[in-house]
Amino acid sequence: RPVVGVFALQGDVREHVRALTAVGATAVPVRRPAELDDVDGLVIPGGESTTMSKLSVDFGLYDPIAKRIADGMPVYGSCAGMIMLASTVLDGRPDQQSFGAISMTVRRNAFGRQVDSFEAPVSVSGLDAPFHAVFIRAPWVESVGADVAVLGSISRAGVDGTVAPHVVAVRQGAALATSFHPELTGDLRLHELFVEMVREAA
Ligand code: GLN
Repeated sequence: RPVVGVFALQGDVREHVRALTAVGATAVPVRRPAELDDVDGLVIPGGESTTMSKLSVDFGLYDPIAKRIADGMPVYGSCAGMIMLASTVLDGRPDQQSFGAISMTVRRNAFGRQVDSFEAPVSVSGLDAPFHAVFIRAPWVESVGADVAVLGSISRAGVDGTVAPHVVAVRQGAALATSFHPELTGDLRLHELFVEMVREAA
């Protein structure tokens, strides 16, 4: 069984642990740098990216994670986790740090406060049927680099009120990110995809 860590200083850790276990991984919460040594891949959950950034620096986890990512460790981020994987964060806090695992610019809380939370089907490349996606104060991907594969988009009004397609699922090499929360729905297909990525990298 591949060992997949879940960043556990903040966020919906238990839901990811449950989903990863259900698809055949050994899921372990990661709070300290030493706990990173044993994992084959890492999930960064949904939650609050500004807090994740601050706590990961305070607990000495930021640099070790950045180093493992640079060495090719597979990572998956949902919502706040997507923000943590971005190279550029818009509407973030000035001191907010992110790992730059995916060459993308993400905008925090991009779908606006009036729609803090919504659910919608999203077609994801590689999956046979649309994914029932849960968005909670979600970011979107505003631009991507040449090496980034766009896996899914949704047509929806943003903070500025205009409806347009917005990218909500991406992959670059061993890094995967979604604006939405598959860990909350019981649809395990994205966790399956990620654990398959971890197996391939091992
Ligand atoms: N709005 C949060 C942030 O900026 C993300 C919300 C979520 O993970 N559900 O980090």
